[in-house]
Amino acid sequence: MDNSVRKVYADNAATTAVSEEVLNAMLPFFRENYGNPSSLYSLGQQAKAPLEQARATVAQCLGAKPNEIYFTSCGSESDNWAIKGAARAQRSKQGKTHIITSAFEHHAVLHTCQALEREGFTVTYLPVHEDGLVRPQELEAAITDSTALVTIMYANNEIGTIQPVPELAAICKERGVLFHTDAVQAIGNVPIDVKAQNIDMLSLSGHKIHAPKGVGALYIRSGVSIETFLDGGAQERGRRAGTENVAEIVGLATAMKIAAGTVEERIARLTPMRDKLIEGILKIERSRLNGSKEHRLPGNVSFCFQGVEGESLLLLLDMYGISASSGSACTSGSLDPSHVLLSIGLPHEVAHGSLRLSFGDYNTMEDVDYILEVLPKIIGRLRNMSPLWDAIRTGKVNYDEYM
Ligand SMILES: *Cc1c(COP(=O)(O)O)cnc(C)c1O
Repeated sequence: MDNSVRKVYADNAATTAVSEEVLNAMLPFFRENYGNPSSLYSLGQQAKAPLEQARATVAQCLGAKPNEIYFTSCGSESDNWAIKGAARAQRSKQGKTHIITSAFEHHAVLHTCQALEREGFTVTYLPVHEDGLVRPQELEAAITDSTALVTIMYANNEIGTIQPVPELAAICKERGVLFHTDAVQAIGNVPIDVKAQNIDMLSLSGHKIHAPKGVGALYIRSGVSIETFLDGGAQERGRRAGTENVAEIVGLATAMKIAAGTVEERIARLTPMRDKLIEGILKIERSRLNGSKEHRLPGNVSFCFQGVEGESLLLLLDMYGISASSGSACTSGSLDPSHVLLSIGLPHEVAHGSLRLSFGDYNTMEDVDYILEVLPKIIGRLRNMSPLWDAIRTGKVNYDEYM
């Protein structure tokens, strides 16, 4: 393969490139306005004002108040803090020890819930059904007098399905239960207003929206009782210590403003690309779109190909300059199929042949055309070498119901 091979980055659900605007907004805070925002002299204050401006910007993008925004080091930290902090506070104040989540959350949520199980909490994992969606009536039925917290992601990172969050949150409000959502994938793709949508806590991350890795935020509605996350200095109103990462926080706010301010444009631009890709890929025999087509992120395409092995598919795509993923990034490297694909009812053999293509602000329709040119050839090559494909083709094994 020569170096002139076309490059298509189609893994924006894993991370994104920092945008020019974000980079330029951050640069002054490394070598000019590098002061500590807690310092009283002017260099410190020159960092303090932009920090508070960034907080106001993020708040405005979410329909929150500035004092409800806490900056963190990543989406995973926001999830950990929201879930552990609120669950433990609910237990110590009201004796509540039950948590409800869904079966296909990001590991930052699932493993946090499992850690709380080891502390004596009980956790209900709601099914997400074949379409990748939680049923509001099943949430309603799962709530008990002991329920401390419900945490359900806004949009799934692997199959892109968008949950009916306003409906779920309204149920929680009516039942007096806290509602947290991991909105890392939803920011910029779904209109979000935490007040109108009754969201008590919301996690977001910079590097999924063209800001750098290592910065995130947590919205905590004022009045929600939650434990301090990091003991130390008085930063983040004494709840999350550590000298603020001013440059990246400014970068995050810049990215948020662009992402949240252009949701409609993004949906209008990405949806036709996504749908052309889906239609084209469905022409490959024994391919299957994972999750609802309708309730889906505008940039997400997730497929399973029978008789294909996901990792080999990724390696061949990479040779053609296409960066994509199979299963969720956190589990790649292990041979276990993704918990997300298993949660929508796929058998291991089918889940193994998965491919996620996710678009961001730098993808174009030409990327779609290139993928559609390359992908069928690669699938054909892999199937030619696959004993499983042979068995499927000759009817020795049958996965007809997963097409
Ligand atoms: C990426 C991601 C996270 C983790 O965010 P980090 O900033 O990488 O820690 C959490 N939840 C979802 C849905 C994600 O896609």
